[in-house]
Amino acid sequence: MVESTRTLCPYCGVGCGLEVLPPAQPGKAIKRDAAGNPLWQVRGDRGHSSSQGQVCVKGATVAESLDRNRLKYPLMRDRLDQPLQPVTWDQALDRIVEKIQTAQVQRGSDSICLYGSGQFQTEDYYVAQKLMKGCLGTNNFDANSRLCMSSAVAGYIQSFGSDGPPCCYDDLELTDCAFIVGANAAECHPIAFNRLHKHHKRNRQVKMVVVDPRRTKTAEAADLHLAIQPGTDVTLFNGIAHLLLRWGEIASLFMDECTTGFGDYTDVISHYPPERVAQECGIPMTDLEQAARYWANADNVLSLWSMGVNQSVQGTAKVCSIINVHLISGQVGRPGAGPFSLTGQPNAMGGREAGGLCHLLPGYRSIQNPEHRATLEQAWGLPPGRIAPEPGRDTWAMITGLETGEVQVLWIAATNPAVSMPDLKRTQAALRQSPFTIYQDAYYPTETTAYAHVVLPAAQWGEKTGVMTNSERMVTLCTAFRPVLGEAKADWEIFAMVGRRLGFGDQFQFQTAAEVYGEFAALTRDRLCDVTGLSHDRLQAGPVQWPCPDSEPVGEPGDRPAQRLYTTLQFPTPDGRARFRPFHGQGLGEPVDQDYPFILTVGRLYGHWHTQTRTGHIAKIQKLHPRPLLEIHPKDAKALGIDNDTWVVVKSRRGVTRFQALVTKAISPGVVFIPMHWGALWADDAEANVLTHSMACPLSLEPELKACAVHLQPL
Ligand code: SF4
Repeated sequence: MVESTRTLCPYCGVGCGLEVLPPAQPGKAIKRDAAGNPLWQVRGDRGHSSSQGQVCVKGATVAESLDRNRLKYPLMRDRLDQPLQPVTWDQALDRIVEKIQTAQVQRGSDSICLYGSGQFQTEDYYVAQKLMKGCLGTNNFDANSRLCMSSAVAGYIQSFGSDGPPCCYDDLELTDCAFIVGANAAECHPIAFNRLHKHHKRNRQVKMVVVDPRRTKTAEAADLHLAIQPGTDVTLFNGIAHLLLRWGEIASLFMDECTTGFGDYTDVISHYPPERVAQECGIPMTDLEQAARYWANADNVLSLWSMGVNQSVQGTAKVCSIINVHLISGQVGRPGAGPFSLTGQPNAMGGREAGGLCHLLPGYRSIQNPEHRATLEQAWGLPPGRIAPEPGRDTWAMITGLETGEVQVLWIAATNPAVSMPDLKRTQAALRQSPFTIYQDAYYPTETTAYAHVVLPAAQWGEKTGVMTNSERMVTLCTAFRPVLGEAKADWEIFAMVGRRLGFGDQFQFQTAAEVYGEFAALTRDRLCDVTGLSHDRLQAGPVQWPCPDSEPVGEPGDRPAQRLYTTLQFPTPDGRARFRPFHGQGLGEPVDQDYPFILTVGRLYGHWHTQTRTGHIAKIQKLHPRPLLEIHPKDAKALGIDNDTWVVVKSRRGVTRFQALVTKAISPGVVFIPMHWGALWADDAEANVLTHSMACPLSLEPELKACAVHLQPL
């Protein structure tokens, strides 16, 4: 009997459990990938409560990503026009340390930036915070979660006083009304969606409402699809609240005892009568009223959202507007009810817990809180005042810092900004200007490799042991199941090696990831995300949801009931009450005009993963969507003389791309859709983000990747 290793799918925030078996099985022929490498066997882990043995095509084929396009040793060059040459780790680390020290002396620590990733394990995130925010004294650490979940973070903090999705996946099977907003969960969070979809199909009284400008697979499964105009989400939810208030369908007792700000909120929503809302959102008034009726009639309303909400100049306002409707109707803190963000990446949640954005510190602490800084300085053995009191550079500010010359060292790890950033041509030009860029990734080459002076080989998820937290706060130990490839190292080990060479030997004595996790967990004591009861040893028995303080008796993981936040209706605000945060709808950052008359929305396709660094060579996935297509409504296509497969030049104020058309009623008139997965390595002129802009939500600093104005011209 061959032993399997239990781990987590490394693709998305659903966080499905996997069991992995070695390629050699008694009595079975070894399967191989397209390049001839022996294939590890992967199946869903039936013991993982989040996914119950299910996996989607990405999880099922993940073994095919283990060996292809991997970097095995460090590479280096002096200038970007030179070829990268193999070097030893000592040579690479000496160069990195010299560049960091020179930048510190000449321009100060704030000229150094580290851009990380929701692909990190929690240990990687934690050691990076200690190095940057603690030892180097700069808060210039941000992660690609800035492009993904930072509006959810900001919205939870605004409304509840802390980050942290309050719900759990069991709620998908306990709700009687699910509102899915700006999320194509059927394709992008398929296993979580399956649980809701089955519950919906089995129970006719359960309602599903989908809010999305596209008629996605998710929308097709809904009782009601509200194809709102992009950027009108705040207006829609203010309009639903207006109707609930008009009908008297409000939770007065809950609001009196558990919330503040209702007076200001009623002032705002009084401006959103259904006639105005239906007209601005571009939906029939009967549909608006039906949606509000579903909400009003349900015992337990669950809202689920993703990038269509977060990636917006009003991202935080959209999140707060959804939460406001939960507060006015008392739909929070009990089974089947509450606001529930669907996380993009596998460990963006763990990153937030470890302080992995430029305004955060580990344990859901804030850079701007003096007590929080002092706690970390003491824990890290650093002098008082070492942690800077202001947030560091967010992701886009790193790019503008390269443009102005304020950023001298840019360290990029486990992400591919040369495809995923907004205003891509400007981003690429800024990366080209970087005096010194370190790029640390498991995959090689990626589009970002072209901009690196030093390239470091990172161990892939299956080659290092560490912890990840999924969307429902379930913490899973991902146990290494195969040796590292070549000279690759875990991300946290690389950060620690640099830290020691910079003179911080005491701070980076870790020998194992378990020691790193132990230090991080101790720092969560009495915080909302308390994981003092967790360790690598305990997690070997199975995943555990937080909060999990060490005061709680340890039982079998399966015996522990699903954990929800705010079940006592006490919130982590100074007065213990949740806060209404009213906003007016402001529309898009870049509205359409005569020159750019179409709204472009950008998104993901089933099977593909981000910028394809992991899925690009997996034949089964490539066959699902072999090329990027521009979705356009038949009415618009006819007006422009576009048929299926017509090449269309798509132009925005920032750049030009070309796509073949897919004429479909799935998209609303006046709106077009293109996928975001294709970078320069995979297709010519098909980089979606060449078109997008960098305008961002002022509270979350998350760019509006989801919408910009474009002009279409058939070729
Ligand atoms: Fe992996 Fe997400 Fe698919 Fe689950 S739903 S198997 S976590 S990609």
